[in-house]
Amino acid sequence: MYELMAEETFDAAHALRGYKGSCENLHGHTWRVQIFLKGEELNNIGLLVDFREIKNKLKAVVDEFDHKNLNDLKDFKVINPSSENIARIIFEKLKTSLIQLEKVTVWESATTCASYQRGPRLS
Ligand SMILES: [Zn+2]
Repeated sequence: MYELMAEETFDAAHALRGYKGSCENLHGHTWRVQIFLKGEELNNIGLLVDFREIKNKLKAVVDEFDHKNLNDLKDFKVINPSSENIARIIFEKLKTSLIQLEKVTVWESATTCASYQRGPRLS
């Protein structure tokens, strides 16, 4: 099994509704997003997926969030823009165009991250 990882960052603000503490107030992070793809079959030139294609698709999603207040975006009108939810939303946005997508990890600081990953594949 092969695994690929690509990374992008974005700067954005958020406030966690209902959180009792300082994260309830509007504040910013430089989020680091890592996406992981898995597969067994390489193409005829030995690639699972072209990194350029992965980076382009990841960048397009991350650009929707960059320099925004995440709470204002449609994706986070109802659900909180927590790192957990950001990871799941990015997974949902990419899963159909990157079918090998396995996991999305979102780092909100150098030492804390949240991941969302595909459930077991039924075959
Ligand atoms: Zn925060």
